[in-house]
Amino acid sequence: MNNKDLSIAIVGGGYGGAAAALALTKSGFNNVKVYEQAPGMSEVGAGIGLRPEVVQFFRDYDSFHAIEAVSTPSDKFQILTAHGDLIHAEEWPHINDYPQPNKTRMIHRADFIDALRSVLPEGVLVLDHKLVDIVDNGPSATLTFENGQSVTADLVIGADGIRSLVRNKLFSQKEPIFQRTHAYRVVIDAADAAGTLTDGDLRLYMGHDGTMIYHLPLLHRNQLSFDITVMSDDDAWAPIITTEYLLEKVKDFSPEMIEITRNLDIPKITSRSGYDLDSLDSWHTDSVALLGDSAHAMLWHQGQGANSAILDGDGIAKALLATDSVPEALAAYQAARKPVTDELQATSRASWDPDKVDTAFPGAQKD
Ligand SMILES: Cc1cc2nc3c(=O)[nH]c(=O)nc-3n(C[C@H](O)[C@H](O)[C@H](O)COP(=O)(O)OP(=O)(O)OC[C@H]3O[C@@H](n4cnc5c(N)ncnc54)[C@H](O)[C@@H]3O)c2cc1C
Repeated sequence: MNNKDLSIAIVGGGYGGAAAALALTKSGFNNVKVYEQAPGMSEVGAGIGLRPEVVQFFRDYDSFHAIEAVSTPSDKFQILTAHGDLIHAEEWPHINDYPQPNKTRMIHRADFIDALRSVLPEGVLVLDHKLVDIVDNGPSATLTFENGQSVTADLVIGADGIRSLVRNKLFSQKEPIFQRTHAYRVVIDAADAAGTLTDGDLRLYMGHDGTMIYHLPLLHRNQLSFDITVMSDDDAWAPIITTEYLLEKVKDFSPEMIEITRNLDIPKITSRSGYDLDSLDSWHTDSVALLGDSAHAMLWHQGQGANSAILDGDGIAKALLATDSVPEALAAYQAARKPVTDELQATSRASWDPDKVDTAFPGAQKD
């Protein structure tokens, strides 16, 4: 598309919204704004892994330096029994598909959003703007914010997360679905990691009742992101937990995992119920598109929610460059990205079965 003055308004400055803004501004679009409801940065204490494709995204947009400085390179994903016996270990797919090796990067969520926002051009991110209404006018859409301001843009991107207002108003009134699972996430110092922080590999320890521990090294911070996942019927957004409860959940795990759990500082743990979405029929109109969790929220078992949100942003920028109109671009974006995330939603919902692990990367992740 030749019209680089196209007005583009992105709702939500999380990973997906910020990555879309990076891809669009680096692609020459000069009228891009990201409207974020929060007055500042607000990420939970936990780590995530940025896959090789996402590392390449940052290289392509001259921003990898910001990520590299605050992340740990990782070679493999290891799956183990609760007691620490290896079930399966596999190199991250696609590391060697690029001019240089792109190892997966382990990163603290707060460092990641900081790094991402730091590489956006000045003035693109507009904080303290909570969307309260959206009207689709056909060739444009109009946003209204809680502070009374209103904006009309040629293209609106709804990157407003799992409880997206953009999705609810224009695409689907279906609520996110509780998947009878909880995640208790915390970042601890190496000194509290019971000697388990040895290399950059992600480790998943699996019990037989759905309890799992994700052990994600943040060596550059001398820290470990420790995530206990359990099955539960309690659908509270932030379930209440105690040390005794956690110890009961991990009682069949190795002595090291039990020791780490015993010493966790309960107020520092982010406790969350797991919700996802059914696949939507459509992600776009002629002027509005969904991206990231607003389009395809998925459980964390494949570690692909944030990665997918970032690749969606790239997908929109590339589709705009390759077509002559916004409607054509949004159709191309959906055609390229939706089959991939449909499959990831399904594999993530299926979670893991410790007796049936023959790959660390089921389905499309290897392609
Ligand atoms: C326990 C757990 C573990 C996870 N682990 C991983 C992992 O290892 N790897 C991985 O890739 N993914 C992981 N994920 C998923 C990942 O966190 C999400 O997929 C990712 O955050 C989605 O990014 P997003 O930008 O689409 O949405 P969000 O990160 O939710 O960002 C949405 C943004 O929109 C803003 N917003 C919302 N409503 C409005 C409004 N009305 N007006 C203005 N702004 C608004 C919000 O404040 C927020 O900043 C995990 C998720 C959970 C719950």
